[in-house]
Amino acid sequence: MDYVGLTTKLLHSKNGSKDQHGAPHTPIYNTTTFAFNSTADILAVVEGKKAGALYTRYGLNPSIFALEQQLALLEGAEAAWAFCSGMASEAALFMALGRKGVICLGDAYGGTLELIADQLPQLGIPSYMLLGSQIDTLEETLKKGAGIVFFETPTNPALEIFDIAAICKLAHQYGTLVAVDNTFASPINQQPLSLGADLVIHSATKYLGGHSDITAGALMGSKELLAQVWPWRKNLGQMIAPEVASLLSRSLRTLQVRVKQQNESAAAVANAMHKHSKIAKVLYPGLPDFPGHELAKKQMSGFGGMLSIEVAGSAEQTSKVADNLKLFALAPSLGGVESLVTQPSTTTHHGLTPEERKRRGISDSTLRLSVGLEDARDLIADLEQALSSI
Ligand code: PLP
Repeated sequence: MDYVGLTTKLLHSKNGSKDQHGAPHTPIYNTTTFAFNSTADILAVVEGKKAGALYTRYGLNPSIFALEQQLALLEGAEAAWAFCSGMASEAALFMALGRKGVICLGDAYGGTLELIADQLPQLGIPSYMLLGSQIDTLEETLKKGAGIVFFETPTNPALEIFDIAAICKLAHQYGTLVAVDNTFASPINQQPLSLGADLVIHSATKYLGGHSDITAGALMGSKELLAQVWPWRKNLGQMIAPEVASLLSRSLRTLQVRVKQQNESAAAVANAMHKHSKIAKVLYPGLPDFPGHELAKKQMSGFGGMLSIEVAGSAEQTSKVADNLKLFALAPSLGGVESLVTQPSTTTHHGLTPEERKRRGISDSTLRLSVGLEDARDLIADLEQALSSI
């Protein structure tokens, strides 16, 4: 039967296979290897003539199969691979398909920037770093013949929005693949493959996992492209553990309800902060005066649970606000059920000069908020009491 709803599909599409004991959730296959009846049987799986479990590091384990089926559904992809972290999925992707060069457009997670700008060149892989404000130079850069254009949208922490369809159209004219890091938006709010992207990556540590208790990654795309990534994941040893796969698979069943609530609460927090006298600026794609709002409306079906606020005060006063928050925990990461706050100038973007941060649209008075599942009224009250301390 064809289901229309994403959560229905996530709960019930299991390739028609039912657990022999009737378990609604695939049990954890906590095993490294699988035994066969004959060498002919094992050879059929080794040669890929027959699908089946074989060895967990290869990803050939039923707990991982069940997860990957859900991951593909989430992004409307032909196939998906699970990884032990978001960075693992990026590293495998760049090594498999980005060896001609990787163009990183806009601001990105610090580890991603380090991998592309500093580490890939050490392996002889050219990298090109373009800020969002330099998007006009993308075509010139594409002429150099890169394998992949990689970007986040919305970006971290300035929430800059890139036009996925337009970038794909341009990149494809030069035979370059487009990979979108969809971690911030989540597949509930944005579907890059349907807009023309070739690949999507996720730090599943964030919204997909959603409970701040697992580290995992995912890569979605066509079977043909993912087949080229498979040996890299296998031999770089980047496999997700069956226990983690099972936890992630469990979390995906509630992804849609979690994200919908997070969208709603983040909008309420953004609106309250927009009116607050001690807030200079609110960066949230759902606000009509946000520069990327029209584009976000076009390519996103929800505006997400992430926002940044700029305190009308010094960097020190901003730190004081963060320190005085009681519900928002002062911690890196995002996308979990608990609300988190970071001051990018003291954490993710600490390594940059104030001028460089400014060039990226990040003030030293910026606080990044990841809105969780607490009642929005409690979150707003918490921000108000912390702001009253300056
Ligand atoms: N992409 C984004 C947008 C992130 O925020 C992060 C981590 O914070 C990563 C990728 C890397 O993910 P992981 O920590 O799961 O390796």
